[in-house]
Amino acid sequence: MSNPRALPPVHKLLADPRIGAWVSKLGQQVVTANIRKILEGCRQQFEQGKTPCVDLDSLVEQAVHHLENQSVGHFRKVINATGIILHTNLGRSPLAEIAARAAYDAGRNYTNLELDLETGSRSSRQGPLRDLLCQLTGAESATVVNNCAAATILVLRSLALGREVIVSRGQLIEIGGSFRLPDIMSTSGATLREVGTTNITRISDYENAVGPQTAALMRVHTSNFRVKGFTEETSLLELIELGKKLTLPVIDDAGSGAIHDPSPYGLTGEPIPQEAIRLGADLTLFSGDKLLGGPQAGIIAGKKQWIQKIEKDPFMRAVRCDKMTLAALEKTLRLHLDPDLARREIPILAMLSESQESLKAKAETLAAKLTAKSITFDLAADHAFVGGGTLPEEKLPTWVLRLGKGPNPQQWAKRLRTGTPAVMARIDQDQIIIDPRTVLKDQMDDLVQAIVLSRPS
Ligand SMILES: *Cc1c(COP(=O)(O)O)cnc(C)c1O
Repeated sequence: MSNPRALPPVHKLLADPRIGAWVSKLGQQVVTANIRKILEGCRQQFEQGKTPCVDLDSLVEQAVHHLENQSVGHFRKVINATGIILHTNLGRSPLAEIAARAAYDAGRNYTNLELDLETGSRSSRQGPLRDLLCQLTGAESATVVNNCAAATILVLRSLALGREVIVSRGQLIEIGGSFRLPDIMSTSGATLREVGTTNITRISDYENAVGPQTAALMRVHTSNFRVKGFTEETSLLELIELGKKLTLPVIDDAGSGAIHDPSPYGLTGEPIPQEAIRLGADLTLFSGDKLLGGPQAGIIAGKKQWIQKIEKDPFMRAVRCDKMTLAALEKTLRLHLDPDLARREIPILAMLSESQESLKAKAETLAAKLTAKSITFDLAADHAFVGGGTLPEEKLPTWVLRLGKGPNPQQWAKRLRTGTPAVMARIDQDQIIIDPRTVLKDQMDDLVQAIVLSRPS
């Protein structure tokens, strides 16, 4: 009969060679703490009148399982089989190979983050990115912070602290994850002056609201919803013309940062940063990890006088990017200098621009691999969303595999998520949907294996 006294002591488990291997990897303290936790769990079970298995072998196995999980850690690679290209929960855009390597190198080594190697004197971490961003957007100057939310707060603070910024009621957006424009505005210390109505805001509404307290006019791209029917929004150009007339700066919160117009792929209505600059916006703000396909960052491009003011703001120091982000962003921006290179090398652009034939071929390749492993499925035409709070209505046609109807697709999906590597799939009408569009080229075999290993018996 098993009883608490039958529990082996900690040192007995530590002496097992299977555990010993983990001591050198994770350290004695971590391993010991894990063993104690497992033994404590057994003791609690005894107290509840249960009889846990206390033989050394099964306890060692339990411990090894825990230790394996800890050594992998929380953050791990996930194969995105949802077809949602900018999946916020999956970290938005995967980096181009060259950008990911640059982040690795910057992280692993010392780097010339703020050093001019020619002169040996101190330099700005913004300089190299500023040049690239000016080239890409046509702006006079630019600067980079941690994300577009930070960019928005910083810009509002610098240009409008204690004063009013006029925004259309139709643009008081919530992006999700606590980006609500009115809250961002009050956090910044600027005062939101709402004008117009949810569906109609005319240039006269802005003009009538301007007073001595007005510091700026702002346009916010309604990234994740569309107002339909009887609607009228003031165009950015009208706003810019009003700004010029009244000498008020115009801020354009564009959100997605589509340097390469995605309309040829059927994605319309995305603001293009260089277009805003060309029209004369004072500042345009966009994310690094949405349609730019780089690391998380917030880019502020526009007139030099404002960028200088922004960079002098003490808040700038609190939201500046680290060396790994800047290194990855530089490489991403360099790829953007050539549209073909960008489409080829930046994963999300390759995914967006992938042709129907190519997607079908990819699905067929996957299909052949699954057939060889006796997995049953249907190959079907389907649609996917872009995601990431962009392009809410635009559905991209795609080809998917619908895996055979299981008794419990939720359970299968969970096994896929918790396997190694983890796979995130969609569920539709009791079926697991695998959309190969967002599966990276070198992940195909891993995906097949994950499906085979997780399939319900
Ligand atoms: C996504 C988005 C933001 C927030 O950008 P993050 O980089 O996620 O902080 C702000 N404004 C608009 C219009 C957006 O679409």
